Amino acid sequence: MRTVVAKFGGTSLADAGQFKKIKDIISKDPDRKFIVASAPGKRFPEDVKVTDMLLKCYHHAKNDEDYEQDICEIQKRFQEIIDELHIDFTLDEEIDTIRKHLSENPDSQYMASRGEYLNSQLLAAFLGFTFVDPAWCVCFNEDGTLDSNMTRRAMGAALRPLKKAVVAGFYGADSDGRIHTFSRGGSDVTGSLVASAIQADLYENWTDVSGLLAADPRIVDSPKSVEYLSYRELRTLSYMGASVLHTDAVLPASDLGIPINIRNTNSPDDHGTIIVRKLPEGKVKHPVVGVAGRLGMSVIQVEKVMVSDGSGFSAIMLDILRERKLPFEQCLTGIDTITLVIRSDLLNPCKDELLTEIKSKLSPDYLGIKENLSMIAVVGERGTESSDANVKVLHAIDNAGIEISTINQGAGKLNLLIGVPEERYKDAIIAIYESIDSSLNEV
Ligand code: ASP
Repeated sequence: MRTVVAKFGGTSLADAGQFKKIKDIISKDPDRKFIVASAPGKRFPEDVKVTDMLLKCYHHAKNDEDYEQDICEIQKRFQEIIDELHIDFTLDEEIDTIRKHLSENPDSQYMASRGEYLNSQLLAAFLGFTFVDPAWCVCFNEDGTLDSNMTRRAMGAALRPLKKAVVAGFYGADSDGRIHTFSRGGSDVTGSLVASAIQADLYENWTDVSGLLAADPRIVDSPKSVEYLSYRELRTLSYMGASVLHTDAVLPASDLGIPINIRNTNSPDDHGTIIVRKLPEGKVKHPVVGVAGRLGMSVIQVEKVMVSDGSGFSAIMLDILRERKLPFEQCLTGIDTITLVIRSDLLNPCKDELLTEIKSKLSPDYLGIKENLSMIAVVGERGTESSDANVKVLHAIDNAGIEISTINQGAGKLNLLIGVPEERYKDAIIAIYESIDSSLNEV
């Protein structure tokens, strides 16, 4: 018998109707033994996620403002689910505990975690599964970083004796019992940690789309969905802004080679996207799997004759960034030039000082900065092996009359990174997508 971990996101658990869909999905496959749950998400576009409602309470409490109305709204959201599904669960005591916390010493991470804490208890009661509080088995260090090894051991020990369980997503605790959360969307990470701790055969991530789309649907009209993807491709796409899975959710599962399957709770017969270490031989022929990008980039260009003579110019440049703890997205070196791509929100607060330091330490012949750029990644382990795919992409950008500021492709050839002005970002994504569209899903 296989073991499947199924994580359900906020929209999949937004109301009683969604809970029923989940029960149906779980009952169709007895291998779905470990469930990871988010807090109730949006029921309709203008709705507010319960996590945001909880954080609002925290801010009111912090500013000595009244939060009673907000608490009542939160209680109402959960009570509606309880009533409609006739779940045997009393909320009053739990809500009073939250009230007490808010009045004594409000903490934002504790508050943010209560949506998952309550929703998972409701789901466990509805399914007849055991509820597992991750405060006991998702182990954080005091500084808020995750202790992965300890978590794997504690989670394994907590879950192995259980036949069927619901684990609350998104949070854990340190050794003093203080609650810590992952960054937003972090229940995906919990799902991956559970899958890794029990060495699951499959990690299903149930959401509201039928898998990863090859481009942002807010920019490209009805982009195709991707059937197979490698972990590396997924990580690159999600780092570059494709929002199907939390970036940190890939590692725990990929370390053990556990396949991740993105599925749609509202359309459970769709196969979704399967993410694996190695793409199945002969099944995936299309060169590029998708395109994604990020706005808000700046490029610093430094030129000096004989930069590349081995005198340590690049090392000094990177040292300057390291000392300032300023991360860079890309570093491109050419003959006598170094180009650094840096997130503008990180660069701006220290831009002038940084440029002065570069001037004084490196005395460059030229030092320039380009701002308001976007970086686009055209991703595909096979795509960028074929120069044909690259040529098509670059042609498409050129034909759309878009200026290319940087091009970067490492020897790893996982992706082609292209910098274009922010105001042409959407046009570039559309042009690139059109150039790869016909070959997507080519099998
Ligand atoms: N509820 C949290 C959020 O809204 C975590 C999650 O849904 O994964 O970000």
